[in-house]
Amino acid sequence: MDPRSALPSIDKLLRQDEILRLIANHGRDAVVETLRSLLQDRRRAIGQGQAAAGNLLTECAERLAEQAEPSLRPVLNLTGTVNHTNLGRALLSQRAAEAACQAMISATNLEYDLDQGTRGDRDSHVEALICRLTGAEAATVVNNNAAAVMLMLNTLALGREVVVSRGELVEIGGAFRVPDVMARAGCRLHEVGTTNRTHLRDYAQAVNEETAAFMKVHASNYAIEGFTAEVPQADLAALARRQGIPFLIDLGSGSLLDLGAFGLPAEPTARQAISDGADAVTFSGDKLLGGPQCGIIAGSRELIARMRANPLKRALRVDKIILAALTATLQSHCDPERARAEIPTLRLLTRPTDEIRALAEWLCPQVGTAVAGWAGVSVIECLSQIGSGARPVDLLPSAGLAFDGIGGVSAQAIARAFRELPLPVIGRIHKDRFLLDLRCLENAEPFLAQLGRLTLVAPSA
Ligand SMILES: *Cc1c(COP(=O)(O)O)cnc(C)c1O
Repeated sequence: MDPRSALPSIDKLLRQDEILRLIANHGRDAVVETLRSLLQDRRRAIGQGQAAAGNLLTECAERLAEQAEPSLRPVLNLTGTVNHTNLGRALLSQRAAEAACQAMISATNLEYDLDQGTRGDRDSHVEALICRLTGAEAATVVNNNAAAVMLMLNTLALGREVVVSRGELVEIGGAFRVPDVMARAGCRLHEVGTTNRTHLRDYAQAVNEETAAFMKVHASNYAIEGFTAEVPQADLAALARRQGIPFLIDLGSGSLLDLGAFGLPAEPTARQAISDGADAVTFSGDKLLGGPQCGIIAGSRELIARMRANPLKRALRVDKIILAALTATLQSHCDPERARAEIPTLRLLTRPTDEIRALAEWLCPQVGTAVAGWAGVSVIECLSQIGSGARPVDLLPSAGLAFDGIGGVSAQAIARAFRELPLPVIGRIHKDRFLLDLRCLENAEPFLAQLGRLTLVAPSA
């Protein structure tokens, strides 16, 4: 007899209790489809002379559970890069998360003036706060800083030239390259100076009747050192004013607080840029600001009004969830100490090294037990990065755990074991060792709770 005929029919399977439970969880269609595909695999295997292996019902349950798992999941970022772009950048504060949640599940006065009972403007909810924190006259918010730069250039320089120093033609994470963004915004790049030195006279000589603006781009992800010269913002602002053109700055991270006061490497602040005479500045919401993904443009009333009137603004605008989270984040910034306590990005960046080291010492034996037999663990000093392009040359002393494979177990295999936990733990590999920087582990509970499930997976052949 053909062993294929011994396989159960779908109808028969669908009457089994276990399958009925799966239908209650995953829906009938998904269960039928999975059973069909499993039966087909078995028929094919038998046809090729292989014996059918494994329990059909267990396999069906596993496959359905796997399919139900969302692709986007929480992970533990122990890479040592606090604002890791690939891991979603800033974590929202509790306050910002609650505000976002409230905005999600309720109607809001997003574009409704409660006082007049008429149509309002969505920027109105954050504009006053941004102005208070930057000293600007007006502000608007779009999808991210790339969008902010795009909107600013398209509005102010369409079909005309923008003067930028050669030392600032940066690429940030692949798709954001200043020359390309400028081309897509519909304006022409007029490069001045050299990679390492640009002078005020270079800008002055570049001006012609096609010139729409001067722009400075913060060198976010690299540092030019040695024989260098760049023009101070205030001097460039004064020259722009004399020429009757706007002076624009893409600040990148653009902190709203003096990070130097927290003992962190200083980043240019939006307030300083505005007080130096910038007519419009742009910066990200989810870098050092520690808020939701968005791009903030702060500047003169006239320029911001023109940007708001650009149809691109509608295409790039943010939703109520972002505005709610941004408002809460900005409110925390009104007091530096409150910002440091409430905003995870700032709290993690300023976390005392002693505290991180004490955590590493405490965790080390427990982690050692979990990896016994295939890796040895030790406490190490390491260096964290701010991430997402903020001053890559400034590193923060931190502490963590280093893993050395036993009997030929590679750092990659150890990294994989941690990635395959229910709450994936992402570390980094440095000099053939797997490292977990504990700066961003504020709550060790979920990390510890799953250590028992760590298993070394044999590398697939
Ligand atoms: C990060 C960065 C951008 C892009 O900002 P997003 O918020 O990621 O869109 C643009 N310019 C500079 C200088 C940056 O550092």
